[in-house]
Amino acid sequence: MLLTNIKVPAEQVSFLQAVRQGLGKEQGLFFPTSWPKPDIAALLNMSLVERSSAILQALIGDELSSDDVSTMLSNAFTFPAPLVPVSDDVSCLELFHGPTLAFKDFGGRFMAQALAKAQAGKKTTIVTATSGDTGAAVAHAFYRQPGVQVVILFPKGKISPLQEKLFTTLGENITTLAVDGDFDQCQALVKQVFDHQALVEKLSINSANSINISRLFAQICYYFEAVAQVPADKRDQVVIAVPSGNFGNLTAGLIAKALGLPIKRMVAATNANDTVPRYWRSGDWQPKTTVATLSNAMDVAAPNNWPRVEALLAQGVISRDDIEAVMVDEDDTVIGVRQLSQLGYLSEPHAAVAFKALKRSLQPGEFGIFLGTAHPAKFKEQVENILGTPIALPEALARCAAEQGLSKDIPADFAVLQQVLLQLELA
Ligand SMILES: *Cc1c(COP(=O)(O)O)cnc(C)c1O
Repeated sequence: MLLTNIKVPAEQVSFLQAVRQGLGKEQGLFFPTSWPKPDIAALLNMSLVERSSAILQALIGDELSSDDVSTMLSNAFTFPAPLVPVSDDVSCLELFHGPTLAFKDFGGRFMAQALAKAQAGKKTTIVTATSGDTGAAVAHAFYRQPGVQVVILFPKGKISPLQEKLFTTLGENITTLAVDGDFDQCQALVKQVFDHQALVEKLSINSANSINISRLFAQICYYFEAVAQVPADKRDQVVIAVPSGNFGNLTAGLIAKALGLPIKRMVAATNANDTVPRYWRSGDWQPKTTVATLSNAMDVAAPNNWPRVEALLAQGVISRDDIEAVMVDEDDTVIGVRQLSQLGYLSEPHAAVAFKALKRSLQPGEFGIFLGTAHPAKFKEQVENILGTPIALPEALARCAAEQGLSKDIPADFAVLQQVLLQLELA
């Protein structure tokens, strides 16, 4: 199936081309213009990898054989996504059982597979900005992959120390840059890189953030995994709340719905960076300056996947009523972590934002799911502060917490970033 540049519709590319390019002309996002209608009942009876292969095969078409897609997915999805009951009508879909303990492992690992196919051995430099977990997922997914250099920008001092250790301690083909600025500035720097055609071509630069279509496609799969675990008599009552920053995760859920997965409603949950909830109410798109919150991976004022949500609406495959947009402030986030703890469920601020938004939206008889996007131990300081009890570190996290971070400080200045990139080329 061909993918179309949302901004420049004349630009149409195949899946692997879109994976390679990341962004299209004028920084447009690639997106399908039509959707397959898979047999949902059959899909819900399959295993995670088998079902995900069928879904992605239907989306990608014959550019990849079904054997290729199955192999890629069995390499990428090596961990489960359990639906864990929290109360009678609320469950958490735990997406943090991968190597970096966050949901971004799903997209990152599948993208690494897809890019390996797309590049077919050619050298690549990946440049990406992270507000926390993308960096770790991308770094781990590409660590030691031959022919791939990874450069990760993150806002210095604005992500949790543990999160930072997860990707700044690897070294080798992973270069990490601590930018003196916020996440939106990091994202702006990455955009400047992609605007610099000569640089992009010279270094064969690819972005690995949530705009890459392969990440989005991979994320569709766990929404099916969620519904497959819902009791059959509740499957027409499913409401899913998504803690949102760049809105890739929410977009994937909306695509799942467009493919026919029974989801009654999606709740887009944000923290105080509430551009989308305000837009949903007023019709005015007015990003403000990013503010730092407890759920820092969602501290995004200008979510870069939003044009894809608009595209789904414009295509008529979802409607406005399918989305409820809810802002959860800091006090309510803290309350959410505490309430979940009282229910016997240890959580962290991102999931708590989704939980509180879900509780506001959920009606009697509905089956609520909120997405657990990170392991509580990744936000150890915040959770310990909120609950007043110590949190144990899982083995993988304890190991890298003890290591030395290797990142380099840079100002939010494109000229400096360009120097770093050109030196990598020579290395
Ligand atoms: C990235 C991230 C989010 C936000 O996901 P988007 O797809 O950018 O909306 C939420 N929670 C955690 C823990 C994250 O790392």
